[in-house]
Amino acid sequence: MDTERFDVVILGGGNAGIGVTGPARRAGLSVAMVEADLLGGTCPNRGCTPKKVLVAAGHALHEIERASIHHIAVGIPRLDWAALIDREKDMIKDIPANLARSMARRNVEVIHGHAAFTGPDTIRVGDRKLQAGHIVIATGSKPRPLPIPGADHMITSDDMLSERELPGRVIFVGGGVISLEFGHVFARAGVRVTVLEALPRLLPAMDADAVARIQAESERIGIRIETGVSVRRIEPTNGRFRVVFTHDSGAELATEADRIVNGAGRVANVDTLDLTAGNVEHANGRVSVDRHLRSTSNHKVYVCGDAVPVAPQLSPIATYEGDIVGRNIVEGPRYSPDYGSMATSVYTVPALAAVGLTEAAANEQGIAVSVHVNDMHDWFSARTYAETVAWSKIIVDRGSDRILGAHFVGHAGQELVNIFGLAMRFGITASQIRDNIYAYPTFSSDIKHMLGHA
Ligand SMILES: Cc1cc2nc3c(=O)[nH]c(=O)nc-3n(C[C@H](O)[C@H](O)[C@H](O)COP(=O)(O)OP(=O)(O)OC[C@H]3O[C@@H](n4cnc5c(N)ncnc54)[C@H](O)[C@@H]3O)c2cc1C
Repeated sequence: MDTERFDVVILGGGNAGIGVTGPARRAGLSVAMVEADLLGGTCPNRGCTPKKVLVAAGHALHEIERASIHHIAVGIPRLDWAALIDREKDMIKDIPANLARSMARRNVEVIHGHAAFTGPDTIRVGDRKLQAGHIVIATGSKPRPLPIPGADHMITSDDMLSERELPGRVIFVGGGVISLEFGHVFARAGVRVTVLEALPRLLPAMDADAVARIQAESERIGIRIETGVSVRRIEPTNGRFRVVFTHDSGAELATEADRIVNGAGRVANVDTLDLTAGNVEHANGRVSVDRHLRSTSNHKVYVCGDAVPVAPQLSPIATYEGDIVGRNIVEGPRYSPDYGSMATSVYTVPALAAVGLTEAAANEQGIAVSVHVNDMHDWFSARTYAETVAWSKIIVDRGSDRILGAHFVGHAGQELVNIFGLAMRFGITASQIRDNIYAYPTFSSDIKHMLGHA
């Protein structure tokens, strides 16, 4: 078969890959996108979007639990889990076809199949051979393989988003974002949830005080959390599974569940790309990239999205990096990502939201900061909405009055955090945020008080 030539070949049709197509097509480059599965990738098909449908149900159950505070008498809620999964699937079912139309309008040729390098500028997809001026690795991530005997008994987030039967008990191996988000939904749906985390605390990248609050709330709703745990093995037992683990003492403990979930984070999905054939330098599943997201060994190759080994694995970041890669291909390597003002949320109920530096990171960097910490649970807005947790920490540079970080648990923090991200990105100072006039009464109107004098 003849070799087909394109200016750009993108491996992967998720947020990152789609992000590349905008700048590349606007510049008139010919673009092919190879996708092995569903167009749109993880976020709309197996990640953010379907998960949020389940989180919204968890939120409704949370509100029902609090209804009596508003003097509303409700019976014991009954959640039809199978119907909820159907609702979730129904809400996302048209996304790949809509994206296919969008790619066709952009004149991007979508090729279905698994891509791998055959040379520094050549790719094979089935029996098709593609040659490209630039190749973009946008193949996303996959659950981190765990070297535990019996690890093959574990399910993943893909399974949790599809199984129509609600398990009675679930154990998450790893206490990251996915475990806490699904753990909250499950716990509110009546599932007995255990989280086993190897590190001394959950969510190590997030502010320790914020994590302590969400851990307390998780325990309040019945989630059992064990930190500093080493999982030794997973073994089937009477139609269920037993997880054997140790603490520091070395004594073996065991706990059982219907489902064991790999919640140990995700790693770049690059191991089947034959990177060596592409002269793409890599080690331990991590592609080596420069500050322009370009392969250090093959300058025709760029990487973006979850496949980048050093950046947070978030959907807006994947899109942002895709756009940077597209512009670097068009204009030459000029642009580099800046992750400093990227807001993120852990969609527990209530959510933990954050942007910028943690207090510990600010201290490590030796920056003189004002730290505004507020337990807001007895503030009027928190009491009005019967919030179980309402907490914030805002970190301000003493010298410049710039916002360096903002952390929330509850209090609509997943929305408020974007105001702080905006401020950080565009240089709006803490005083300017405090002096802004907000609609009242809103959670945003509390920002003035959150930034009261430290
Ligand atoms: C359960 C879950 C919940 C999440 N929730 C959130 C959230 O709330 N907010 C948030 O910001 N982020 C969330 N994320 C993370 C977010 O989904 C990812 O950061 C984002 O989807 C990454 O986009 P990407 O384009 O890099 O990769 P992907 O979207 O994974 O796209 C990669 C694509 O490449 C394809 N591919 C892989 N290998 C090949 C190959 N060899 N040939 C051809 N195609 C290939 C795959 O099929 C896939 O479609 C969540 C992730 C998960 C798993």
